[in-house]
Amino acid sequence: MTELRDFFGRHFGASPTHSVRAPGRVELLGNHTDYNQGLVMALAVDKFIEVAVGPRQDREVEIRDTAFPERVRFALDAIAKDPGVPWADYPKGILLQLQQRGVEFGGFNLAIKSSIPLGAGLSSSAAFLVATALAVRKLYPFTLTPSGVGTPPLRDAEGNVAAPSDAERLLLAKACQAAENQFVGVNCGILDHISSLFGRARQVIEIDCEKLAVSWSPLDGNLAVVVCHSGVKHALVGGEYNDRRRHCESAARALEVPALRYATLESLEAAKSRLDRRDYECALHVVGEIERVRTGAALLRAGRLKDFGQLLFASHESSRTHFLNSCPELDLLVALARTHTACLGARLTGGGFGGATVNLVARDQAEAFREHVAAGFQQRTGRSIHSWVCGVVDGAE
Ligand code: ADP
Ligand code: MG
Repeated sequence: MTELRDFFGRHFGASPTHSVRAPGRVELLGNHTDYNQGLVMALAVDKFIEVAVGPRQDREVEIRDTAFPERVRFALDAIAKDPGVPWADYPKGILLQLQQRGVEFGGFNLAIKSSIPLGAGLSSSAAFLVATALAVRKLYPFTLTPSGVGTPPLRDAEGNVAAPSDAERLLLAKACQAAENQFVGVNCGILDHISSLFGRARQVIEIDCEKLAVSWSPLDGNLAVVVCHSGVKHALVGGEYNDRRRHCESAARALEVPALRYATLESLEAAKSRLDRRDYECALHVVGEIERVRTGAALLRAGRLKDFGQLLFASHESSRTHFLNSCPELDLLVALARTHTACLGARLTGGGFGGATVNLVARDQAEAFREHVAAGFQQRTGRSIHSWVCGVVDGAE
């Protein structure tokens, strides 16, 4: 935080008054299930976006990012896209969502520093939105309610406001998702935003996206979560992601269900001849994933980690052959993971089309595993990868 405070001070000539740290997330199991009202398991991980803020009196917002050269400045009463600075769409989008819900706030300066790789499937975008929303809430306290805003929370003697309740966190997650859908233009589900807000140290977050219910189960302490970044940057905005979503929605229409959550492998097989081929294949992936999460949750609770790991491999195979959201680099990372005896399971994580894999590995062999995968990848492609043993952490605060 010191580095960010210094950065803020250099650019804005004052110290920040508040700061927020929002984690990235790893989707453990349940690929592309969230917008199909399905089930998903995720982990908040120790890669963070940190933002520092301080108030301004002129109803303007000025943003500086440690990773980007642009100086972004706009009026709160005229928030609009600037194609020259696409990353600013994220803070602009969430500010608009808050305004639309009746949240009143004034101007501020915002500085950003992040350790979440961009476009790696660890959801830097959601962490960015969540961090911005919580920073505004610390600066200009508000309470979101299902119909708008309620009585704002009071500051304590130190000037801090109480953290949002779980109910309010869900509303914040929805606002962040809406920002990404409506302003940024990615039709993503709510997994990423919930994960960044609802993480718990050493716990798996289980999300039912139909009921919008969140629960947690402990992650075995002998397991390490290793993330291997293929180095292939996915491009979600306006791309393949929205295409897959359309196939899922089209399949649900053909099956006459409100969402693929309500389909089963049996109902899908029965309707196969009526379905467009790609609609069918995409639905097969999603319905299979929802089933795998259901099975996986029970396996995790029973401590059957080996069986749980097999579901990760099955998930990747389904991505590779049905949903077509893998790529040769991700397939290679999973194939290399399979050949290491300490690896229980591996799959692509997040949207796909590049980005990273998640690997469950015996903790005492996590470093050897990282070296094994990196060496194999180097040998086969001539390229190096980044990988991390990720800590599983609490949500944004
Ligand atoms: P992911 O969420 O998996 O990292 P996305 O494509 O959804 O990938 O989001 C990445 C985009 O989010 C970046 O291209 C950038 O516009 C924005 N973003 C993420 N982190 C930052 C950051 N620290 N500073 C500025 N923009 C960021
Ligand atoms: Mg994202």
